[in-house]
Amino acid sequence: MAQLKWVVAALSACFTVAASLSPSSAPNVNYTELAQQLSSSASIYLPGSDAFDDVVSRWSNLSVPVANIVVVPGTKEDVVKIVTFANEHSVPFLAANGFHGSVTTLGKMTHGIEIYLSQLSTVEIAQDGKTAKIGGGIRAKNLTDALTTEVTGACECVGYLGPGLGGGHGWLQGHHGLVSDQYLSFNIVLANGSLTTIDETSDLFWGLKGAGHNFGIVTSVTSKVYDVQYPNYAIETIFFSGDKVEEVYELANELWITNGTSPEGVNNWSYWYFDPTIDPEKPVIVMYIIQEGRDTVDPVHTAPFHQLGPIMSQPKSGTYRDLAAWTGISLADGPCQKTGNANPRFPIYLKAYNPQSQKQIYELFREATTSPGTPFAGSLFMFEGYAMQGVQALADDASAFAYRANNLLVAPLLVYPPGEALNAEARALGNRMRQVLFEGSGQATLNTYVNYAYGDETPAAWYGGDAWRQERLAALKKKYDPTGRFSFYAPIA
Ligand SMILES: Cc1cc2nc3c(=O)[nH]c(=O)nc-3n(C[C@H](O)[C@H](O)[C@H](O)COP(=O)(O)OP(=O)(O)OC[C@H]3O[C@@H](n4cnc5c(N)ncnc54)[C@H](O)[C@@H]3O)c2cc1C
Repeated sequence: MAQLKWVVAALSACFTVAASLSPSSAPNVNYTELAQQLSSSASIYLPGSDAFDDVVSRWSNLSVPVANIVVVPGTKEDVVKIVTFANEHSVPFLAANGFHGSVTTLGKMTHGIEIYLSQLSTVEIAQDGKTAKIGGGIRAKNLTDALTTEVTGACECVGYLGPGLGGGHGWLQGHHGLVSDQYLSFNIVLANGSLTTIDETSDLFWGLKGAGHNFGIVTSVTSKVYDVQYPNYAIETIFFSGDKVEEVYELANELWITNGTSPEGVNNWSYWYFDPTIDPEKPVIVMYIIQEGRDTVDPVHTAPFHQLGPIMSQPKSGTYRDLAAWTGISLADGPCQKTGNANPRFPIYLKAYNPQSQKQIYELFREATTSPGTPFAGSLFMFEGYAMQGVQALADDASAFAYRANNLLVAPLLVYPPGEALNAEARALGNRMRQVLFEGSGQATLNTYVNYAYGDETPAAWYGGDAWRQERLAALKKKYDPTGRFSFYAPIA
């Protein structure tokens, strides 16, 4: 109660958020009415406070959503009240958790309420230890800490539901499938403000697992959880000169895709970035080979790379909890900081590498990151080769996630200070790189990961081009969100 009193008292003079706060905001809305309905643990942040600034700033500063007010619900009933209030006053709203959502469609929110879910973060493990009820505002790192291991995303600072509602890739998908493949039921506030439970008996269950950002605010989800299978993990990080780009990816194909299959417990990622301390002239290729249940990676996966003549190789051993730091995505690493930069990605799913296309995009990336005075020097090219057995164990139509048959998730991440001219340059460059990969893939459609999407792709690229998928999603959208209240994040057409 004390907290809410503070909010109301402190804000009584300015609690009506005025149109002047945002050029395109709605007519004045008296948020005191909303505050009076909320639980004692809820909070409200207004512009001008550090708390507000902190939770409206985002990882990527490109086409960001604009909020006039932030409401932090203390309970799931608070979420109902906020959505109902927003509906009654025709105010847009958007849930937020890890602030790593970066699809440019988010920028279509020009005013309204940010519903910051941080307090809905409890984890209750069932007595049999096989399921857990997980709050909709938990972040990946907190969940991993609470559960020892789970099927979470790989990065520590992102939310858990943000990735999961779009599919959700992670280190354990070789065994168990996507993050969303673990979901058994959702407690969700729908567009009409009703709080309901959606499980396999509902038509919406399918849609929430892959296109879920379109349908509601998940206050909690019940997910399968698993005992820790392997206490130990090994990684070998192998650095190559860019001269070897074709050989490196020919070998990756041979080992893990075309001739062999990556075993369930082996994940490989590679990055390209310009680090003049390693190569003063061009971006380096950094191959991460990660294996569970071992202290050193099986030489079957590493020796062929050694034969290509790398610049250096760094083996390490530890536990599941070290994986994020080893691959540069722990809380302490750059990708978890809000720097003010724009960070658009241009993702494409691929079946295999095309070494000639790899060479072509390497040249584009080299030029972009090393030409004198370039604003893109800090960019990263990401190649994610997760084990796929758990993902591909489910039928293609098992959920709204459309791309189970694809083995690789690839994306340039262009990092630069935002501004109109550079935004346009980055968009052209990123799309050019992706087009090279698309043409080299032999695929008929552009297949992208909605959670990495730039924002100028089509709904068919985000959610699958099959007509039946688009029709099924359109029907769900019409039934559950007919007026498009949840249409800021990669909206279904
Ligand atoms: C550094 C980095 C690492 C990443 N690592 C991974 C990874 O390992 N695996 C992976 O699959 N993806 C990963 N992603 C992509 C990630 O899935 C998306 O960026 C996702 O949108 C992040 O969610 P968030 O909660 O952090 O962001 P937010 O911007 O807070 O949320 C993203 C969207 O989800 C909605 N949302 C959040 N919580 C809820 C909820 N409870 N109910 C309904 N809607 C909700 C928000 O309204 C928003 O539209 C990564 C991205 C980055 C930048």
